[in-house]
Amino acid sequence: MLMTPKEYIESLRKLKTRVYMFGEKIDNWVDNPIIRPSINSVAMTYALALDPKYEDTMTATSMFTGDKINRFTHIHQSAEDLVKKVKMQRLLGQKTAACFQRCVGMDAFNAVYSTTYEIDAKYKTHYHENFRKFLIMVQQHDLTVDGAMTDPKGDRSKAPHEQKDPDMFVHVVERRPDGIVVCGAKAHQTGSINSHWHIFMPTIAMKKEDADWALSFACPTDAEGLYMIYGRQSCDTRKLEDCPIDLGNAKFGGQEALVVLDHVFIPNEYIFMNGEYEFAGMLVERFAGYHRQSYGGCKVGVGDVLIGAAALAAEYNGVEKASHIKDKLIEMTHLNETLYSCGIACSCEGCPTKAGNYQIDLLLANVCKQNVTRFPYEIVRLAEDIAGGLMVTMPSEKDFHSDLPVAKDGSTIGEICNKYFAARDDIPTEDRERILRFLENMCLGAAAVGYRTESLHGAGSPQAQRIMIARQGNIEAKKEMAKEIAGITHISDTEKKS
Ligand code: SF4
Ligand code: FE
Repeated sequence: MLMTPKEYIESLRKLKTRVYMFGEKIDNWVDNPIIRPSINSVAMTYALALDPKYEDTMTATSMFTGDKINRFTHIHQSAEDLVKKVKMQRLLGQKTAACFQRCVGMDAFNAVYSTTYEIDAKYKTHYHENFRKFLIMVQQHDLTVDGAMTDPKGDRSKAPHEQKDPDMFVHVVERRPDGIVVCGAKAHQTGSINSHWHIFMPTIAMKKEDADWALSFACPTDAEGLYMIYGRQSCDTRKLEDCPIDLGNAKFGGQEALVVLDHVFIPNEYIFMNGEYEFAGMLVERFAGYHRQSYGGCKVGVGDVLIGAAALAAEYNGVEKASHIKDKLIEMTHLNETLYSCGIACSCEGCPTKAGNYQIDLLLANVCKQNVTRFPYEIVRLAEDIAGGLMVTMPSEKDFHSDLPVAKDGSTIGEICNKYFAARDDIPTEDRERILRFLENMCLGAAAVGYRTESLHGAGSPQAQRIMIARQGNIEAKKEMAKEIAGITHISDTEKKS
């Protein structure tokens, strides 16, 4: 059964999720003005799935039950499904201009599905069956599940078992006949508070000594011992000021938190990996691959809105016909569509795993994300260029609305602001104010978490993709191509060694 956005929000109220922010426990976090925009973004994944216009993009058929499900809970059955996933994410980016958070769970589902199949094939474990049952429950109740991967990692030069504090990576502290007890944390976790469940996964490839850290499991968000400390965002306290225009995007946003597991009990039926350390790298690689594909959709959708905002700012200033403005908008579009091309390409080149679900082409997915670490920065630079300095120097909404007399003729602060910040006659100054604040929000305000820094570090920092590109790039085959055409038959000492 697909949930309505209202049902989703009400379902969150029923959870006993523990949330802390600004040093305090937040009991009614659902209605908290700082947190609520991120809940609205996830609610949009429910709203669009019920809109007949988007049915094909937003919904799929469950491979387990044949029921209609939200695509965010789907196991990709074809390259076409992978393409639809990217299109869905672009659409959500266009509708929210923010991170809508539900993708991490979808990407975890698909990575855990294929990895558990391969662990079971080697060890005769029952992780795949555990996962299937869990996912059927998720699909039937249309739940939002978070995919949690990034451990705090402590001293980066050390493996999990070498850390002074073993909690730097999530690990088992007790094995019982009916399950395991785990400790640790996941850092900068997107969409944690407003998810019903979490799937935890390891964050790096592991060796035998790290077996107690090689874990994957599902856990309810309000499990005993689990809590979150909310990550603050640039300009977040503006949400407490009752100045919706100053927010730029008053409706939607993203969220990140530190998620702590303090001796949380995980029953056997929710365990998907428990010590099979040699599969940790596979799970990381697959999840990262799916999430790097995701960025070829979500960031492109947000980019669409940013380009639109820049074009409006130019129009409101009366400069839309200037050739350099047109050229900047072309450049922004070119960059944005290049990201989309990468997202679509790695999807079209997808192929089935041993478990039968479809996986993206890993090389192209990593190239996609590598471009995402760069192009949004250039798109933002061009948007700021077009917007002009006013996007960061404009007085507050309260000034624009102030009736305090300030001028010799009795004009108010509001009238003075509206006089000096007016541009074209036919454009209300408030519209100019709104679009510039919107640009501020996306380029360096709360939404910049999702569009800028997350573009760099989300789904893995740039170097992580370069390692994968090196691994998948197949330089040896390329050397053979060159040798064959150049007529070289000699095998050098370097080649003999490699
Ligand atoms: Fe989804 Fe993009 Fe947010 Fe990741 S960054 S959760 S892909 S919207
Ligand atoms: Fe992300």
